[in-house]
Amino acid sequence: MEKILEVKNLHVSFDTFAGEVEAVRGVNIDLTKGETLAIVGESGSGKSVTSKSIMRLIPNPPGRIKEGEILFEGKDLAQYSEREMQRIRGSEISMIFQDPMTSLNPTMTIGKQIMEGLRIHQKMSKSQATARAIELLKLVGIPNAESRLKQYPHQFSGGMRQRVVIAIALACNPKILIADEPTTALDVTIQAQILDLMRDLQDKTGTAIILITHDLGVVANAAQRVAVMYGGQIVETGTVDEIFYKPQHPYTWGLLASMPKVGDSGTELIAIPGSPPDLSDPPKGCPFAARCPHAMQVCIDHMPDATEVSGSHQAACWLLDERAPKVEKPEAATI
Ligand code: SF4
Ligand code: MG
Repeated sequence: MEKILEVKNLHVSFDTFAGEVEAVRGVNIDLTKGETLAIVGESGSGKSVTSKSIMRLIPNPPGRIKEGEILFEGKDLAQYSEREMQRIRGSEISMIFQDPMTSLNPTMTIGKQIMEGLRIHQKMSKSQATARAIELLKLVGIPNAESRLKQYPHQFSGGMRQRVVIAIALACNPKILIADEPTTALDVTIQAQILDLMRDLQDKTGTAIILITHDLGVVANAAQRVAVMYGGQIVETGTVDEIFYKPQHPYTWGLLASMPKVGDSGTELIAIPGSPPDLSDPPKGCPFAARCPHAMQVCIDHMPDATEVSGSHQAACWLLDERAPKVEKPEAATI
């Protein structure tokens, strides 16, 4: 399978009043053409910083990539000039964010906003860009495309605005789409529609998607592979089936337990007690040790290496060491 993106040993830090914060600590990611990889974790786990690093959108100062490589089609993105990077962001790797209002310009018609990238990056004439914009609005399921082009963002509902943002992101047929919490601001029904739409579009366009979310529920239907992030590191990665049916890391167990079960009505969510590690003074051992019900002395003293569970499944936990005591693993999640 053709790798389109490889992130190797990425370290990203920020200077803050509290000192240096190591937001991302040694992240490795592979992305294959046409697949969807979900990056899951709580806020502050480093997932958004990872995705912004891929877009080279980490403000420096206060942030910087301290170590590592981000290879897009085999070439390190650090080698591109800012100008080349703008072209890549406009046409090869695009990004959509949680709140469509912040990515749309309220004073410009949505037609203009869709056409902007087409005119600049694809050098289309006005009539070509108009035709493509109409096609894109139809593609993302917005009826009456011709007249909708002349309207402003506030004339669209939240779900429709996110469809417009997706249309803009897909306008230039990007090879990678990074979607950072694309449905978090939307209600559940619209959420499902937007995820369906992204999947449909992926079938048609072959775009690889990195889906960033704090919600494992969103992942089950939308992704093929999952990377679970905690404390700036990837603690477990595997196919959706491996993560849901054979999870190995206690943090993944906690995330799965906190998902509402199908058919449950009104039962309270089980939150994982405690809070994430302070990355201005990161723990030297397992980042989850302070919250892990199975933590041992070795967990506090030494960082666990990623252990191969299968060819597609790895987890970084001392419980996978053959000398570790056997603990009862939770039942598989119902998805
Ligand atoms: Fe828990 Fe230790 Fe595994 Fe970390 S390494 S998740 S503390 S058992
Ligand atoms: Mg975020």
